[in-house]
Amino acid sequence: MGGLMINHKKIYNQTFDTLVVGGGIVGIGIFRDLSLHGVKTLLIDSKDFCGETSQSSSKMLHGGIRYLENLDFLLVEEALRERNIWEKLTPHLTKREQFYLPIYKDSKHPLCMAKLGTWLYRTLANEKGPKKNDSHPLNHFPQLNKKNLKGFAVYEDVIMDDFTLGLECLMDALQEKNSFAENYTSFQTFHHGKEMITVELKNEITHHEFKVHCKNIIFSLGPFTDRVLSKQYPSSWQNQLLPSRGSHLWIKKERLPLTAPMVMLNNDGRVIFAIPHVQGILLGTTEVSVTDYEQKQSSPKETNYLLEATNHLFPEAKITHEDLLGSFSGIRPLVNQSRGTHETSREHKVLSLHPNVHAIFGGKYTTFRSMGQEITRQIVQKNHQSYDRNLSLRPLRKKCLFNSFAPISMQVLENEKLFGELTDLIIQNEFVKTSSDIRRRLHLMNHQNLPESFSFPENL
Ligand SMILES: Cc1cc2nc3c(=O)[nH]c(=O)nc-3n(C[C@H](O)[C@H](O)[C@H](O)COP(=O)(O)OP(=O)(O)OC[C@H]3O[C@@H](n4cnc5c(N)ncnc54)[C@H](O)[C@@H]3O)c2cc1C
Repeated sequence: MGGLMINHKKIYNQTFDTLVVGGGIVGIGIFRDLSLHGVKTLLIDSKDFCGETSQSSSKMLHGGIRYLENLDFLLVEEALRERNIWEKLTPHLTKREQFYLPIYKDSKHPLCMAKLGTWLYRTLANEKGPKKNDSHPLNHFPQLNKKNLKGFAVYEDVIMDDFTLGLECLMDALQEKNSFAENYTSFQTFHHGKEMITVELKNEITHHEFKVHCKNIIFSLGPFTDRVLSKQYPSSWQNQLLPSRGSHLWIKKERLPLTAPMVMLNNDGRVIFAIPHVQGILLGTTEVSVTDYEQKQSSPKETNYLLEATNHLFPEAKITHEDLLGSFSGIRPLVNQSRGTHETSREHKVLSLHPNVHAIFGGKYTTFRSMGQEITRQIVQKNHQSYDRNLSLRPLRKKCLFNSFAPISMQVLENEKLFGELTDLIIQNEFVKTSSDIRRRLHLMNHQNLPESFSFPENL
């Protein structure tokens, strides 16, 4: 892949129409939509783009079959529509799979009800073709506990590479001449002027502070919304989120032989997915209250919880800590609706803090494109342009060098020369500023090291 050089355009003291603060998937979706409409936009993130929640999801583009229980039909339908859109736009980063929900004698819902749910899910997804018939579902799960098993409810969803999808959307937006993006650049504060807003930013690598000017600001800070905006509005901000931490484990494939995703209903009512990916089996997720926003891996308690639940369903597997390839965790930016975390709807919220200052948070990865349209429409129309909600359905114009469906091979990792050439390309083209950015773009697990000879270039 050649010719993908991104110009590091200078942003110091520049004036933009709109500043988007927070380069997770929601901010990137907004940035791309505004860029495609020709609005001069700057996107910043205090860390790496898609380096927080948007790389720590369960990696599903989905309607959320469990939200049918909360009767969130409109939300499920919208998410299924978006799922189908991204499946078509990014076939190299997505894969449609049949998900199997085993139903036992003592399961919360009887088999007929679970099947009714999957029928409704298919209907909301507008899936018209004949349902795939699988007369031997147990073949996918040789070690599953079969005692009192009544059968399976089966439905389709899409698995994806969350980090790379975000980065490719960002690189697509940067094909437009009026779009600018910087990672490791944090928002500090802003002041309203007569016509413009002056924003103080900080380069988190050099610690250099500088200003930019803009007409509009959009905060898309996901779970960090309360933390940043309570500082900006100390006397008036009311916390909006009910943050909960969700952790995942990567298990060695040979230790949990599955050839299709399984949905496990745990005794405490939580849902745990076991999803085969190229690198391993992804197990998740937990829901615990947030104590530490910086914790990036599963805690021992959460790891034990996931292992116990899996060993309960697959007693022959006897998975232990030795079988882990790695773990990761992220914080769900759930909007506080005074319900428990797993009943809380995945709907998003938009707040206008001032006619030119908006905040958006909540929602899910799957709905990022449509979530931001309420704000982007307003901004485009304020510029006396017509808004086209279908512009963001355009195909993406750039691809990353690696993705989790086509990961880096061990041969390349072990070959110093090849590895050096590849990392040079990634550094030039994919917004790399730290060695952990390289690891992220190569989709390395916790146990995989960079070659010993690898040294990160200075002065990027
Ligand atoms: C465990 C778990 C599993 C999930 N699974 C799924 C799933 O399978 N499918 C699905 O659709 N959704 C899923 N979700 C939800 C989904 O991941 C999130 O809704 C989505 O990623 C949130 O994106 P965001 O852009 O709002 O937040 P983030 O990705 O967290 O982005 C916010 C950004 O703001 C930046 N930031 C913070 N402070 C500052 C500052 N001062 N200046 C500049 N930038 C700043 C951060 O660095 C961060 O990159 C899951 C969530 C979790 C936690």
